[in-house]
Amino acid sequence: MSKGLYTTEALILRCRRYREADGLLVLLTRERGKVNAVAKGIFKPSSSLRGGVQTFTLSAMQLYAGKSNLHTVTQSQCQEAFLTLREQLDGMLTAACWAELLEALLPEEEADEALFALALTGFYALAVKAAPLIRRGLEVQLMNALGYEPVLDGCVECQRRFLEDAPVFFSLNRGGLVCGRCRQSGDLPVGGEAVALWRMLGKMDCGKVGRIKGRPFAIKQLGSVVEAWIAAQVGRPMRSWGVIKTMGGLSDD
Ligand SMILES: [Zn+2]
Repeated sequence: MSKGLYTTEALILRCRRYREADGLLVLLTRERGKVNAVAKGIFKPSSSLRGGVQTFTLSAMQLYAGKSNLHTVTQSQCQEAFLTLREQLDGMLTAACWAELLEALLPEEEADEALFALALTGFYALAVKAAPLIRRGLEVQLMNALGYEPVLDGCVECQRRFLEDAPVFFSLNRGGLVCGRCRQSGDLPVGGEAVALWRMLGKMDCGKVGRIKGRPFAIKQLGSVVEAWIAAQVGRPMRSWGVIKTMGGLSDD
C-alpha cells in the first residue's frame, strides 16, 4: 500500500482511548479495507476531529499512512451517524455485534468494495430495525462472502438429501449439515425451519433481509448454530454476544 495522505469513506468499527487524549480506531475503509488508525487529541473538548470519529458512524476521512501499520486521521467529517441505532439499546447491541464481527473476520488493508457495501448495508439495516433475523442475515451473508458458506443442501458426509421430518444436525468440523446416520458427538441439532431460513438469508439481497419472517424458536435455533459456526472459524465467540446474553437477550428474542 502506498504511503502518504489518502482520502476515503470509513466506517468506525471501534474507538478506544489511547495515551492521554488520543483515540485508537479500527476503521473499515472503502479504499484500503480494514485499517488501524490513531486520532490525536479527540478526547480533548476542543478537538475538531471528535464528531467525525464516533463509533458506528460513516465518515469522510483523510488519513496519513506512514511507515507503521497505524495510520493517522488528519481530517474527518461524519456523513451518516445512524442516529436511530444510538437511540435504542437493541440498536447499540446489534451494531456492536456487527462491528466486532467485521473486525474479527476482515483481513487488514485489503480493499473489497462488496464487503464494504455489505458492512454499510448492515448498519443501515440495523438502524431501520435491530431485529434478530436481520442480525442473523448479516452474519450469514458475511460468512458466505468470506468463503465460509456451509453445505446446507444435503448431508456433507454421505451427500444424501434429507427426508422430510428426518433429524438433521450441523457439524462444525465438517462444515455443513449431516444426517442422523453420519452424526457424530458434538454435532448440533437443527430443525428444518432454521435450515430453510439459513438458506434463504444466504441467497437474498442483504438489504431485503427485513422482509423475511420466521417463527421465534426457529430464529433462536438458527442464531445459536450460526454463532457456533462463526466461533469455530474465528477461534472464539464474540464478546458482544456475551453482553447480549448477560442482559437477557434482545427485546425481540
Ligand atoms: Zn449422511
